[in-house]
Amino acid sequence: MPRSQSSIEDRLRDALGDGLLTQEPLRHHTTFRIGGPADFYFAARTEEKLVGALAAAHAAGLPVFLLGGGSNLLVSDDGFRGLVIRNAIETIEFDGTAAHVGCGADFLELICRCRDQELSGLEFAAGIPGSVGGALYGNAGCYGQDIGTFTIECTNVALDGRGVETRPASWYQFAYRDSRLKRDPRVLLTCMLQLRRGERDAIQKVIDEKLEIRRVKHPQWRVEPTAGWRVEPTAGSYFKNLPPDWRMPGAKLSPGTHRVAAGQLLDECGCRGLRVGDAMVFSKHANIIVNAGRASALEVLELAEIMKTRAREKFGVELEEEVMFLGEKPAPGRAARATPARRGRLSA
Ligand SMILES: Cc1cc2nc3c(=O)[nH]c(=O)nc-3n(C[C@H](O)[C@H](O)[C@H](O)COP(=O)(O)OP(=O)(O)OC[C@H]3O[C@@H](n4cnc5c(N)ncnc54)[C@H](O)[C@@H]3O)c2cc1C
Repeated sequence: MPRSQSSIEDRLRDALGDGLLTQEPLRHHTTFRIGGPADFYFAARTEEKLVGALAAAHAAGLPVFLLGGGSNLLVSDDGFRGLVIRNAIETIEFDGTAAHVGCGADFLELICRCRDQELSGLEFAAGIPGSVGGALYGNAGCYGQDIGTFTIECTNVALDGRGVETRPASWYQFAYRDSRLKRDPRVLLTCMLQLRRGERDAIQKVIDEKLEIRRVKHPQWRVEPTAGWRVEPTAGSYFKNLPPDWRMPGAKLSPGTHRVAAGQLLDECGCRGLRVGDAMVFSKHANIIVNAGRASALEVLELAEIMKTRAREKFGVELEEEVMFLGEKPAPGRAARATPARRGRLSA
């Protein structure tokens, strides 16, 4: 490690202690199981530690990346030159029908805790992987519902660790898979969500239904060595559904929305089963890429480029990525250029 790097490490270690990891493989922290090392990695379990980690990185002049459950991420094969801070603030408390939640809490854990309190609302989202903070960042949702609708307020802090502030939901501009945080990056620490009274059994029934739908239709991404199924790492839908004003005769709309599903277009482009190296379009859903072995980020990018090109050529539409990319993107054209040159590795 160069000398300047080791002095940065010393400064971070002074601030963060033994929890600081170096050269931590990010593939261990994403549901895609892809990604090179982060120079530095720290899991912050309290607000104080998270704010301290941001401030320490700022003082050392290091870029930071805030990681939740890593379920909407494709990380570069070269990893990340900076400090990855995992939000591990997992507190969940209730006050009447409101939930006060640490943004590192697991989304499904929150839904189950709401069920135990007989509080209804979020169960539609059972099975969306990741943390509550990640869900708020991208306003995660399905079946025409999203987490933003249930949000009263969130507390955030700037990336340099300064200016902790609590803002109402309207400030966050929640929209389809979008929030203000994508344009005005800040770190979410805690949030307050509004639920309503419900019955435990009725809530559990919805949770079971949603989990079963996902079990049948989605890749089994969890690493459960004792489970009887093959693990299929993925980051979920790769592209966003089409904007509401985009129309196509005969197109099916994504359930509960006015948007044509990207998966339908990709299906009609014959994308199911397409493969570049170990990156493969899922056999049951043309908008999901799975890591069928040891896929690299570059292979995923190449495959995604092919899917985009097919959608552009057949439907004249530019698909927009829903999965976020972390790290240095390969030079423009590298992924696309690899397509014809590596035909041998492209199969359907
Ligand atoms: C099998 C599968 C199914 C999926 N189904 C759905 C679905 O139905 N609907 C849906 O919307 N999504 C779905 N997803 C995508 C993903 O689960 C969601 O986007 C999820 O909410 C991401 O949360 P995360 O904690 O994993 O975020 P990460 O992947 O860790 O991070 C995503 C982004 O959020 C930012 N972020 C994370 N935490 C914070 C924080 N505390 N403060 C500020 N920024 C933060 C990160 O910096 C990053 O930019 C699916 C994914 C998989 C693998």
